[in-house]
Amino acid sequence: MDTVSGTAWRPAARVAGMGTSIFTEMTELARATGAINLGQGVPELASPPALLRDVADAVLAGANQYPPAAGLLALREAVAAHQERCYGLAYDPAAEVLVTTGATEALAAAVLALCDPGDEIIAFDPCYDAYAADARLAGATLVGVPLAVDGEGFLLDGDALRAAVTPRTRALILNTPHNPTGKVFTPAELAAVAALCQEHDLTVITDEVYEHLVYTDRPHLPIAALPGMRERTVTVSSAGKTFNTTGWKVGWVSGPAPLVAAVNAAKQFLTYASGTPYQGALARALGSVEEWAAGLRAELRANRDLLTEGLRAAGLRPFRADAGYFVQADVRPAGYRDGVAFCRELPGRVGVVAIPTSAFQLAEGPRWLVRFSFCKRPAVLEDAVARLRRSAD
Ligand code: PMP
Ligand code: GLN
Repeated sequence: MDTVSGTAWRPAARVAGMGTSIFTEMTELARATGAINLGQGVPELASPPALLRDVADAVLAGANQYPPAAGLLALREAVAAHQERCYGLAYDPAAEVLVTTGATEALAAAVLALCDPGDEIIAFDPCYDAYAADARLAGATLVGVPLAVDGEGFLLDGDALRAAVTPRTRALILNTPHNPTGKVFTPAELAAVAALCQEHDLTVITDEVYEHLVYTDRPHLPIAALPGMRERTVTVSSAGKTFNTTGWKVGWVSGPAPLVAAVNAAKQFLTYASGTPYQGALARALGSVEEWAAGLRAELRANRDLLTEGLRAAGLRPFRADAGYFVQADVRPAGYRDGVAFCRELPGRVGVVAIPTSAFQLAEGPRWLVRFSFCKRPAVLEDAVARLRRSAD
């Protein structure tokens, strides 16, 4: 009996104990303490002005009603053209591309559509928090394969991956570039994942939202582009990180028609469709994304360097961030064994919010890792770094 309402209300088992996401919690902590928020990956960087104007024009011109459930054809065509141009992957915009309400919905719909209760889904650990929740909503279990901490990076452990496969394994979620580590899976690692998925007939659901934010010379390589992988892979991405428009929540799926149809079956009853005025504008922006992304990468690479050096100067041991929004740091050199304790004290002690990497860990892993985000204005990062440095003196 719920003693407040006097009814027999209780949460369904699939959400019981899920609580508030770590991002909400940390952003609220930053607000309450006035600390600089290097926790949640919310970009403070500019969006393409033409894209913003296009959305405003579309709203004023009346593009305010439901789009087709699968998304405006113009955006599906732009996604298909993008996959072909950037990665040599050909998809039929009418049957093999689906627009979703952010990558978040795409991932949830894909897991709901492609996994049954009792199935196991493999993901690399640590991982983005939505994957475990999506598995649970589907009645499936997320099985973590720890990424090995090696020097200043994170590596795929092929033995651990093979050991994680059971007769119940149905799918694998692959996030590259990776949040929260900033890792980019190497071609050899992707080949090992691909071989395993083919050997065990696993479906692959990818999360490529940071596809355009790779800071090394080797561009992003979707696993769907590897031999034998297109037919078993549902590729997910979104506009949020590429155009600094995380509040618009427009994402997309590409894959073989039967898999995309299954994802659409779930997606149409989650949201039906997603923001019409954004879709037309994003279709145009995606057409020339390479030029935009080159500038954004330059900004983010400089931010990464600034934050990495600042963390080092503050007595932490930063890891290499080859992509995305985040740097991992080992807090042990600053006298902490536990990232949670470090992050709990950081706002009051230093005036900065960060996220303990353990919040992304499926199983007990290194407790001493903390994630800092660098998708902020350089002045904000300078301020954060100065605060961290002062605290180390
Ligand atoms: N996957 C990863 C790895 C992320 O970092 C995020 C956060 N943007 C998402 C998915 C969610 O993307 P979206 O905002 O498009 O739903
Ligand atoms: N992707 C962002 C992060 O990892 C935030 C996502 C969210 O707030 N749900 O920080």
